[in-house]
Amino acid sequence: MRSLIRLLLALLPALACAGQAVHITLLHVNDVYQISPVDNGTRGGLARLAALKKQVQAESPHTLLLFGGDTLSPSVASNTFRGEQMIAAWNATGLDMAVFGNHEFDFGPDILQARMAESHFPWLGANVHDKTGNALFANARASEIRTFDGIKIGFLGVVTPSTAQSSRPGPQLRFDDANIEARREAGRLRAKGAMAVVALTHQDLAQDRKLAETGAVDLILGGHDHVLMQTLAGRTPIFKAGSDARLVARLDLYLDRDSRRLTHLDWEMLPLDARTPEDADAARVVAGFENRLSALLDQPVGETSVALDARQEPSRSRETNVGDWLADIYRNRTGAEAAIVNGGTIRSNAGYGPGKLSRRDILSILPFENLIVKLDVSGRILRAALEHGLSEIHESRESGRFPQVSGIRYVYDPRLPVGNRLTQVTVNGAPLEDDRRYALAVNTYLAGGGDGYKMFKGQTFLITPENALSETAEVIEALTAGSPVAPRLDGRIKSLP
Ligand SMILES: [Zn+2]
Repeated sequence: MRSLIRLLLALLPALACAGQAVHITLLHVNDVYQISPVDNGTRGGLARLAALKKQVQAESPHTLLLFGGDTLSPSVASNTFRGEQMIAAWNATGLDMAVFGNHEFDFGPDILQARMAESHFPWLGANVHDKTGNALFANARASEIRTFDGIKIGFLGVVTPSTAQSSRPGPQLRFDDANIEARREAGRLRAKGAMAVVALTHQDLAQDRKLAETGAVDLILGGHDHVLMQTLAGRTPIFKAGSDARLVARLDLYLDRDSRRLTHLDWEMLPLDARTPEDADAARVVAGFENRLSALLDQPVGETSVALDARQEPSRSRETNVGDWLADIYRNRTGAEAAIVNGGTIRSNAGYGPGKLSRRDILSILPFENLIVKLDVSGRILRAALEHGLSEIHESRESGRFPQVSGIRYVYDPRLPVGNRLTQVTVNGAPLEDDRRYALAVNTYLAGGGDGYKMFKGQTFLITPENALSETAEVIEALTAGSPVAPRLDGRIKSLP
């Protein structure tokens, strides 16, 4: 009798658990470049994210906060702190793990290694190897196993191999096929008893779909794309949560002990806005860096030996030395043949120098922190874009679409009808050919059809927004490297009569 009771008691925990699901909550964000809220303070912000994690954890104890890559760069703050501010803020949010994004390598492998050493969370990168020793990069891990109520969940991380070209990882690193490494690592995790495998990926959606179709992983939480994505390929769901933590993907996983399977999955996109209070500790960390940045913004970063003209009316109606300078930086930094900067990008409506320039001066000229991309366009599209830029010139000298250029020289007559105002266009000295292809640098605003530049929408990217450079940071870097700068008008834009 006594032994029977003992047996029953021994069985009790198993009986109690039989048929019971283990509930795990995953919070996921990707492509976060700012520690403070974005969109004029309305969305995102890592102090709010920290508070959200605590809220969710109070209700669902098995909660993990995951990050899908791209955080150390690009931004004006990172131009100063080399990503240190991001890691400090991530530590304060209680981030549980992160996968490398391509932008993690923008400052080179040594800076990344320093940032990894500061991280209170593991970095995953199953396909990033040292060329010489074949070991994983630095102290990165291929995967992690987390155990909840005796149930093991595997997490693996991979990053797009295009990082080798789009970023600056140096000659020592090798980026292997992300999906081959992900499948291999998923197999290892299952062999170690993982009941479900979650892939943290930083690659484009087409690649995620290929991984999903193999059925090797149960769930893909992605990054690299900056738009909200909720999709399914094969039987594997894929989620990406936009950028800058404007949204947080919440996934609730229910795992059955008996069948050892993921029985169901609920998800929800949580907006991160003013309704979420800020976590006080995280807010302190963020404020500390913002105050340091504010002080640093006033320090000189270079010098101009001529007066810089960033006034609104000239920027939007004729060649200016700031327009030439910016467009030249766009073209040079992307290796494009030509560049167009819409006059409306130049904001401060002020003159500068001759003399020293601070970071704040450059930020006042370029407050949007636009990204610079490179498009593959036909001569016909390039001509249409220039005509569009000149389409309001007769009516208004305040139209933001006016095209400041580099690599291009054009003559126009404002008395001619809209769409036919160009009388002469050359690209690097040769007449513009409608059927030739041109590599053109523009900012993401124009590439997305902003200011009416609809002809750029849908064109092929040679440098995608995901791999793009920060306009403001590139200008600061060019200013520092070329100081003193002396941009002068060279007659690249001429108006008749
Ligand atoms: Zn990316």
